Amino acid sequence: MQNEYDVIVIGGGPAGCTAAALTAEAGHRVLLLEREKMPRFHVGESLMPECYWPLQRLGLIDRMKQSSFVKKKSVQFVTASGKQSEPFYFLEHDPRESSTTWQVERADFDQLLFDRAAELGADCYDQTRVLDILFDGEGTAQGVKVRKASGETRDIAARVVMDGSGQQSLIANRLGLRQDIPELKKAAIWGYYKHASRDDGDNAGATIIMHTDKKESWFWFIPLSNEITSIGCVGDNDYMLKTGLDTEARYQVELERCPGLQTRLEHAQRIGKLHVAKEYSYWTKQHAGQGWVLIGDAFGFIDPIYSSGVYFALVMGEKAADAVNAGLAAGDVSAEKLGCWCDDFKGGAKWIRKLVDAFYTKDFSFGGFLRDNPQFRGNLTDLLIGRIFYDGAGDIFESMSPMVSNSQASSMG
Ligand SMILES: Cc1cc2nc3c(=O)[nH]c(=O)nc-3n(C[C@H](O)[C@H](O)[C@H](O)COP(=O)(O)OP(=O)(O)OC[C@H]3O[C@@H](n4cnc5c(N)ncnc54)[C@H](O)[C@@H]3O)c2cc1C
Repeated sequence: MQNEYDVIVIGGGPAGCTAAALTAEAGHRVLLLEREKMPRFHVGESLMPECYWPLQRLGLIDRMKQSSFVKKKSVQFVTASGKQSEPFYFLEHDPRESSTTWQVERADFDQLLFDRAAELGADCYDQTRVLDILFDGEGTAQGVKVRKASGETRDIAARVVMDGSGQQSLIANRLGLRQDIPELKKAAIWGYYKHASRDDGDNAGATIIMHTDKKESWFWFIPLSNEITSIGCVGDNDYMLKTGLDTEARYQVELERCPGLQTRLEHAQRIGKLHVAKEYSYWTKQHAGQGWVLIGDAFGFIDPIYSSGVYFALVMGEKAADAVNAGLAAGDVSAEKLGCWCDDFKGGAKWIRKLVDAFYTKDFSFGGFLRDNPQFRGNLTDLLIGRIFYDGAGDIFESMSPMVSNSQASSMG
C-alpha cells in the first residue's frame, strides 16, 4: 500500500469495485479498501437485466455466462390469494442477450468484481477498514485513515475519495447528509432453503414476489445455484420486529400467511440461520463535495422489491468513475465535476421509487392496472428490466397516479 493515490475507493461491493476498476483502467493510481475478508456474504442476489451494460463495460459478460449463476428471465407476482400473474418475460419485450440476467451468490459475484478491479490495476485490500475520512479545514477530502489486517493504522492521501461503503455510508454519516425515508421504514427476515420447488423451463430462475394474505408483508423467492433458494419476508419495521415474537416465530407466522409459498416449500429444508435487515431505506441530501463522491448504497437505497440495488450500485460506480476520470484530467475535483451525473441518475431512480410506492399502496395491483391499461405492459416491463434512463420511462405513472396518490418520489431531489 502506497502513501498516496489519485483515487481511494471505500468498499468492495458492486459500487466500489466498479468505480475502482474503471478509474484504474483509465490509468489512475487507485486504492480499493474493503473491511471484510473477501469473499464475504451479502444480501441482494437478484440482478436486473440492465446490469448487463456495466458488466459488459467491465469485461465480465463472458465470465458471467461461464459461471454457475442461475439465469433469470422473468419476474412474477403472486397475489394475496395465491394467484400467480402472467410472468413479465424480459426477452419477449426485448429479444436481446441483455434481457437474460442472473441470480447471484453475492460472495462469488462481488469477488469477481473485486478481482476485476485488481486486474485492471487497482491496489485491492480486504480486511482493511477505513476508520475516518481526512478533510482539510475547508472541507476538501484529502484521504482516509485506515486500520490494516495487522492492526496497524495509517493515513493515506488521495486526490479523490469515492465512498462505496454501502449502508455504512461513511461520508454521509460523518457530514450528517443521510435522510431516512419514513414511508419506507421496513425490515426483512430471510433464510436459505434446499429443494424449494421451482417452475420449469424459462420460469425456473424467475424472481417471484408473493404477497401474504392481508398484504401486510411480502416474500421474495430467488432461485440460486446448487438447488438453494433465498426466501425473504419484508414488512413494516414495527410489524416485523416489534410484536414480541422472536425472529424465528415472526418468520414462521408470515410463511404460513403466504399462500404462494405453501406448495413450494413442501419438500424444502432450511439451511442455516435466519438473517435480519432493518431500516435500510434512506437517501442523501448531497452526493458529492470537493474531492469526494458517494456511490451505491452509500448514496442511498430505496427498497429491495424490484432488485434495483446492485444495478444502481454498478451504474453509480460507472457514472462516478467517468466523472472522476474527467475531473482528474481537468484538474478539477469540485462537487460539480464529481457529481455531474447525479441529477441524471436521480431522474431515472425516481421511477423505481414511484413503482415502489405503487407496490405498497394497499388497494393497488399491477394485474388490475394492466387489465385496464394493457398498453402499459411494455413500459412496466422496461422498469422491471431497469430501463429507466430515457424520456418516457415514467409515462406509466400519469395513468397510475390517481390510484397511487401518496408517491413521495419528489423527496429524492
Ligand atoms: C433485505 C434486502 C434485500 C435486497 N435484495 C436485493 C436484490 O435482490 N437485488 C439487488 O440488486 N439488491 C438487493 N438489495 C440491495 C443490495 O444489497 C445493495 O443495494 C447493494 O449491495 C449495494 O452495493 P454497494 O456496493 O453500494 O454496497 P455493498 O454491497 O454493501 O458493499 C459495501 C462494502 O463496503 C464495505 N465497508 C463498509 N464500511 C467500510 C469501511 N469502514 N471500510 C472499508 N470497507 C467498508 C462493506 O463491508 C461492504 O463490503 C437488497 C437489500 C436489502 C436490505
